[in-house]
Amino acid sequence: MDRVLDGKVVLVTGASSGIGEATALALSAAGAKVAAGARRTDRLAGLVERAAGEVLALELDVTDEGSCRDAVSAAAGHFGGLDVLVNNAGIMLTGPIPGADTSEWARMVHTNLLGAMYTTHAALPHLLERGGTLVQISSTSGRTASAGGGVYAATKFGVNGFSEALRQEVTAQGVRVVVIEPGMVDTELADHITDPVTRAAARDMMKSIRTLRPEDVANAVLYAVSQPGHVAVNEILLRPTDQV
Ligand code: NDP
Repeated sequence: MDRVLDGKVVLVTGASSGIGEATALALSAAGAKVAAGARRTDRLAGLVERAAGEVLALELDVTDEGSCRDAVSAAAGHFGGLDVLVNNAGIMLTGPIPGADTSEWARMVHTNLLGAMYTTHAALPHLLERGGTLVQISSTSGRTASAGGGVYAATKFGVNGFSEALRQEVTAQGVRVVVIEPGMVDTELADHITDPVTRAAARDMMKSIRTLRPEDVANAVLYAVSQPGHVAVNEILLRPTDQV
């Protein structure tokens, strides 16, 4: 692969599995220095070993604003700056709204929405300094909501709204904001659903179609962040062909 990201420094949140792990590997193969954050540091150690270039593993809990600040500081301090932040950490605890365990709503809002906002806030001084790029891993659920996915969609609609406002605030300073909206990807995401009916439905859906692979989303991230500085890829919606 061309080393199109030679000299660039990237921080990927939620890099211990799925899309974040694939993105960290793809950007590393393209020449970037990668800081990889997540709570499961044992999984990050495996990523460090498999990556093509230098990867800095960082213990990160995006629900904790201090942890987000520390991760950004550690990445920028270790590599001498930060060019790209990929806000990927997320959870999907879907299920019907009536009778839901509202503590799961709070976890989703804190992780998917506030977590991405905290990390963005911490990284912005670096991105502004270097004309950097913010990548938000949103979802098709950031564009359309469906029964059973109300709160998850609310977090992803929130990410999209926050990102569009920020885009308008920072684009004149050369910072690009990219929203990636994948459909169904074969990862661990649905394994954490606690509602048995919703979890079984998600598993059945996964088995019935050719899902996206984490690498497909990583390719979309790589495409967006490797464009010349005057090209802002603001939004990429990608679905499995079989997903209606
Ligand atoms: P995974 O479950 O494989 O990955 C989720 C990642 O988020 C893990 O690395 C996990 O790491 C991390 N994470 C969760 N909570 C926290 C936290 N509090 N602090 C730091 N990291 C955290 O799922 P995916 O790869 O599928 O999900 C990645 C993103 O892609 C999510 O934002 C998801 O909403 C989005 N997405 C996924 C789709 C899919 O079909 N799979 C479709 C569209 C979007 P750890 O537990 O080690 O902290």
